[in-house]
Amino acid sequence: MTSFDVVVVGSANLDLVATLDHLPTPGETLIALDYAEHAGGKGLNQAVACARMGARTAFVGCVGCDDAGTFLREVLEREGIDTSLLRSVDSPTGRAFINVDQRGENEIVVVSGANALVTPVELPKAAVVLLQLEIPLSTVVATLQAARARGVTTVLNPAPAQTLTAELLSLVDVAVPNENEARLLGGTEHLLSLGVRDVVTTLGERGAEVANASGVAAVAPHAVKAIDTVGAGDAFTGAMCAMLASGSSVQQASRVGAVAGALATTVHGAVPSLPKRQAVESAMGGALK
Ligand code: ADP
Repeated sequence: MTSFDVVVVGSANLDLVATLDHLPTPGETLIALDYAEHAGGKGLNQAVACARMGARTAFVGCVGCDDAGTFLREVLEREGIDTSLLRSVDSPTGRAFINVDQRGENEIVVVSGANALVTPVELPKAAVVLLQLEIPLSTVVATLQAARARGVTTVLNPAPAQTLTAELLSLVDVAVPNENEARLLGGTEHLLSLGVRDVVTTLGERGAEVANASGVAAVAPHAVKAIDTVGAGDAFTGAMCAMLASGSSVQQASRVGAVAGALATTVHGAVPSLPKRQAVESAMGGALK
């Protein structure tokens, strides 16, 4: 069986983005000023982030038997991501309907579609398994259990924010919440007490923080001129997993994640903003091991 650095088990969506003068009020019909479609979903974004850092990456998920599903499969394959465990199912490809107004305010409706049909698979050999929360929680738990049983490092980006059971959290080696998600999960101390080995909390322009049994260590932000923070968390998490898979410590991997996250804020959109390894290396002033 092929072996991978990172296996991402997660969501893939088609993002449909309408730019509007203002967000519609109930019953209002608006003509959009602009419109674009992009590949999205936290799972797909983070898989692309891993692959651009040079990690051998596989994506496990579901798309529909429709044009959007074909498009998302092609996006993943163009990035060199293995899609042999990406199933085409009898449900529409997941979609996110995103309205953005002239001030940058947005409203988002997610239709899970095929993502709701992601079931546990026999995991290929891998150093790291990375999950988020846009697929059924039962699949997240079963995947974490299977990865644990094989000694694969488990990483959870607990997004979108929600409360989770102690059973699920106790199966996570490295949790990567943002501040809001960390609060909803009961805080860093609580997560460590449940058995999470490392809690890496991302703090936006303030960088990140790594907490474990040895204490709490800050990860300094990488200074950039941010223009769009969409994709920053995905870039951080993907780059961190790529580095963990190649043997870096969580602290070192988080430092690289912080640079990748910062670079992602300098480009509009999610997938277009996810940096390649070379860009991260030149921002860090030298080759990564
Ligand atoms: P999320 O988008 O998931 O809420 P964050 O906003 O915490 O995640 O961003 C993820 C990471 O990206 C941060 O930990 C940080 O390293 C980097 N980052 C985000 N915004 C900035 C910024 N304005 N300047 C520098 N780095 C940033």
